[in-house]
Amino acid sequence: MTAYNYQLILKNIFPGSLRNFGDQEIVYSDKKRFTFNQFYERISRFANGLKEIGVQPGDKVAVLDWDTNHYMESYFSIPMMGSVLHTVNIRYPPELIYLTMQHAEDKYVIIRDEFLPLIEKYASMFDFIKGWIVYSDDTDDVKTSLSPSYNYEDLVKNNEPMNFPDIDENTQATIFYTSGTTGLPKGVTFTHRDLILHAVSLASSVHREPLVVRDNDVFMSLVPLFHVHSWGLPYVTILTGNKYVLPGRYDMGKIIELIDKERITLSLMVPSILYMILNHPKAQEHKDAFSKWKVVIGGAALPRGLARLAESYGIRIIAGYGMSETCPVLTLALYNDRISKKNENERFEYRISTGIPIIFVHLKVVNEYGKEVPWDGKTIGEIVVRAPWLTKEYYKDPEKTEQLWKDGWLHTGDLAFVDSDGYVHIVDREKDAIKSGGEFIPSILIENIVSEIPGVGEVALVGVSHEKWGERPVLFVKKLKDITKEDIYDHIKKYLETGRIQKFWIPDDVVFIDDLPKTSTGKIDKKMLRDMYENMKK
Ligand code: ADP
Repeated sequence: MTAYNYQLILKNIFPGSLRNFGDQEIVYSDKKRFTFNQFYERISRFANGLKEIGVQPGDKVAVLDWDTNHYMESYFSIPMMGSVLHTVNIRYPPELIYLTMQHAEDKYVIIRDEFLPLIEKYASMFDFIKGWIVYSDDTDDVKTSLSPSYNYEDLVKNNEPMNFPDIDENTQATIFYTSGTTGLPKGVTFTHRDLILHAVSLASSVHREPLVVRDNDVFMSLVPLFHVHSWGLPYVTILTGNKYVLPGRYDMGKIIELIDKERITLSLMVPSILYMILNHPKAQEHKDAFSKWKVVIGGAALPRGLARLAESYGIRIIAGYGMSETCPVLTLALYNDRISKKNENERFEYRISTGIPIIFVHLKVVNEYGKEVPWDGKTIGEIVVRAPWLTKEYYKDPEKTEQLWKDGWLHTGDLAFVDSDGYVHIVDREKDAIKSGGEFIPSILIENIVSEIPGVGEVALVGVSHEKWGERPVLFVKKLKDITKEDIYDHIKKYLETGRIQKFWIPDDVVFIDDLPKTSTGKIDKKMLRDMYENMKK
């Protein structure tokens, strides 16, 4: 006999998980609750239902939904039967939804009733789709003009559980598209092995201070399921046996109630979501629940002011870093041995930094010749990485793939320095970087300083064209209280006096704005701000 050729595939998470945590719960908002055992039963019946209607291994199956139990089921059922899950960005404009589905060559679509009118309008363009699987929270009898259509719940009810196949761990499991803030979206793909190793690394990293995730922690990712695997938390939860809560369509009031009612202790999100939660009228009423909440902020830098506000509620908050191309997590601002010895005040700056690489991630900050910069807390270079779960390619785009993987390292396009304790500090992303008179202005540093001012909400520093200097910085501020430009300049000047910033970094202008424009993934859209300012000047 030869040894069993064990593959790192999603199927293999379940035997251990169900044996030990079969009664653990997956909760969909205030609507439904399933045990892990019931969840597994549903995904295995549904997979057979998909097979029955013609879904083949390798076929791309798209999903259009909010964060629901149906969506989380498809995270497992589709890859585990050997097909490929396409998590469609439902925040894209309709033409990008269409273009990405066409580019991915999707064959089947799992779609919630709310999204049907959007697709039905353009039905004839989706002639490459062989079947639509529909469902609703409100009725078992969903009507659609799309054809052929199948009812999700019927596929679950009318089929026996699938005995999932033993596939190769390098089989593609997922595909999705980058946000496309700086050009057309690019497709990234991940295998079973990528997803498993990313989840294992995350699961074994988050027990460290100051997160200290344990058995009784309750997870609710506030990164939508359509975006970068919801940062991998749905996979982690099945591995670790933690209770998991899905918020449905994002409604901040409801999310706050869920945090309280379901005793959520760990969430992940971009900064704008936390701003919305903490500034919501319901935040005060449920504020006791926040004192048990741990939050990881990623997708953009964690502003110092937001971190202080969160900590004033008793939230344990740290930063994390990653991108669509990297599955996504690369770093978390956990304490290494040197930092755990420091006092609480000193540790604050490390918690809000970009952090340290998680297990398996090789990360270095390099100069233009690819040489690692010293860990001196000031020399800036580009972050390049290697990890077992990075996308191997931009789908059908060899040219961009080549640029991404130049020298065998994945080039992030993020500019950073490393301090003497090994912590990474992103100062900007290459495409947003402000160059004034040939010198670089670290926007995240200025944004951090301004975010400390009481009454300041979100802030963004952007570069606008300037005849003499090439570019000059302009600051956009959402104010929550009555503050003036002078208040902002006075605060920035304190940093100038103590030599922590340079004079030419001070913004030429401050613009107050009701709401900062956001990308489809909820991040501040700096490109739009630059365009807005150029138009204001005309
Ligand atoms: P998009 O490129 O549209 O923003 P991604 O979700 O892939 O889509 O974003 C990844 C980028 O977000 C990173 O390359 C980086 O510029 C930024 N980012 C993510 N986490 C952090 C962080 N902790 N600090 C600063 N920037 C971050």
